Amino acid sequence: SRVRVMELDESPEVTFEYVGGLSGEIEEIREAVEYPLTMPEVFERIGVEPPKGILLHGPPGTGKTLLAKAVAHNAKATFIRMSGSELVHKYIGEGAQMVRELFSLARDRAPSIVFIDEIDAIGTTRTNDGTSGSAEVQRTLMQLLAEMDGFDNRGDVRIMAATNRVDMLDAALLRPGRFDRIIEIPVPDIIAREEILKIHTRKMNLSPDVNLAEISVLTEGLTGAQIQAVCREAGMFAVRKSAFEVTNQDLLDAINKVTGEEHDSEERMF
Ligand code: ATP
Repeated sequence: SRVRVMELDESPEVTFEYVGGLSGEIEEIREAVEYPLTMPEVFERIGVEPPKGILLHGPPGTGKTLLAKAVAHNAKATFIRMSGSELVHKYIGEGAQMVRELFSLARDRAPSIVFIDEIDAIGTTRTNDGTSGSAEVQRTLMQLLAEMDGFDNRGDVRIMAATNRVDMLDAALLRPGRFDRIIEIPVPDIIAREEILKIHTRKMNLSPDVNLAEISVLTEGLTGAQIQAVCREAGMFAVRKSAFEVTNQDLLDAINKVTGEEHDSEERMF
């Protein structure tokens, strides 16, 4: 049952070619995570300490997990993902032990990259419910801080985390020697959206009338995950018609479907 909370992947298949936009962010992540693993002697020679922990923050579905997997691929490192929220909600009473196991696994499988998704679940400033869960969450956080403090920056285990609530994070996590490199992962701009559209239609048979530049204008405000959903839905429209290719109209209909569904679910909440 512990397999679910920790996902392990020896050198993931994902590469930076699958990431649309974010070229500046990719370079920053490579410098902080990949190069310390692949050329530690350069850091040594120059006498510079790589950052201890790298925190990616930004809206859900903007590619944080994708980036962490791609950097693990490049570094030929084992990728070990743990979800902060699953840890807190499914493993009540076991959080601190799970954190210990996570780091021990990372050391065994080095070179490795530990990726803690939704870290805000174990490290928020205040617990708004004040329930008994909070003491347990506090213990889990303490264990995480202890593991990070006991770590050598130059070792072959790199630590990454992601959150979409950076404003809520416990200040203890952001101190020097903890998550001391913070990289914002924004929603894609128009150029990035066109790249993401190309990535997710790469294997599709597209009609010559498809105009991805137009589609990238019309997907303003959507995240990478939502653009991926648009491409998938467009493909499904073509499948339902038993067509031979995906048309521009399929993509337009898919935008309406994906953005419409979100309006619906927002309305249902009230
Ligand atoms: P969450 O905070 O919800 O975990 P996230 O930022 O980690 O989100 P991902 O899980 O990396 O987002 O993104 C989900 C999927 O959306 C990816 O597997 C990918 O297919 C697609 N995607 C997101 N961003 C991009 C991007 N910049 N380029 C290409 N695909 C993207």
